[in-house]
Amino acid sequence: MNRKDSATAALPVKRLLGGIEGGGTRFNCVIGPSPGEAWARSSFPTTTPADTFARVIDFFREGEAEYGALSAVGMASFGPVDLHRASGFYGHVTTTPKPHWSHTDVVGTLSRALGVPIAFDTDVNGAALGEGAFGAARGLRNFVYVTIGTGIGAGVVADGRPLNGAMHPEVGHMLVPRAVDDSHFGGNCRYHGDCLEGLASGPAIEARWGRRGESLPPDHPAWALQAEYLAGLCVNLTLSYAPERIILGGGVMARRQLFPMIRSRFAELLNGYTALSEVSPEGFIVPPSLAGRSGEVGAMVAAGRLAEHRESQRVDR
Ligand code: ZN
Repeated sequence: MNRKDSATAALPVKRLLGGIEGGGTRFNCVIGPSPGEAWARSSFPTTTPADTFARVIDFFREGEAEYGALSAVGMASFGPVDLHRASGFYGHVTTTPKPHWSHTDVVGTLSRALGVPIAFDTDVNGAALGEGAFGAARGLRNFVYVTIGTGIGAGVVADGRPLNGAMHPEVGHMLVPRAVDDSHFGGNCRYHGDCLEGLASGPAIEARWGRRGESLPPDHPAWALQAEYLAGLCVNLTLSYAPERIILGGGVMARRQLFPMIRSRFAELLNGYTALSEVSPEGFIVPPSLAGRSGEVGAMVAAGRLAEHRESQRVDR
């Protein structure tokens, strides 16, 4: 556990929150009195569920010994996950290509070990909540957070809440029109071939060009193709959800030259249709502003909401 400023942290607090960003590669855990404030954090690789959760649980038990009892813990999880409370498998990672993790009971494991309420959502919904509370969508009630990296996923926030229907949306697998000069590549989604993820994720870039995106020069044709597909994504999101802003994050978007290319192609594709085409693309399609912390901050936001809800129920009684 990396502590910071434990002199002030020892003061009594009304509420202590835990946040977990559970990624397929790494887990990040934080503890603190509010979503913007982490008193301690820990980060470790995602191994087996048993080993990974042992480290998570140790972190929070140490945190409770230091700072007092937790009110709630939020977890933004890689997936797919089951968010349906009536399903019998609520809070599980369902069937994932990640070895050892299919059918893992995340919420049950954490709530049994820690004895606190657990707020559970997808990694992208978590990142969206974080950006909404403290980042690039601060003050907005309708926006979309997209990550473009190993996979493509999106958290859609509608009227301040992540949108989950019969399951969480799987925006990354939407179908987009093929670029005319991209007919030689079949796409690498194991389910759909040339869905958006199969055409525009980090592994798709590597499969198409035989090199990782990081090693491709700025004038490589890969980037115009990438902008074409991601502009199509932004058009579809705009027409489907009418967001006030779209945040594009993830490893692929570290290539910041993509932003002006996507904005310009987005404006061309939308072609003046809908009032949303009146907004400035510079303020509409933007990078995240929490620099890799969106998910853990969002997990703390969810934990805070859950703690508040539980407290209001106790007051009502
Ligand atoms: Zn797919």
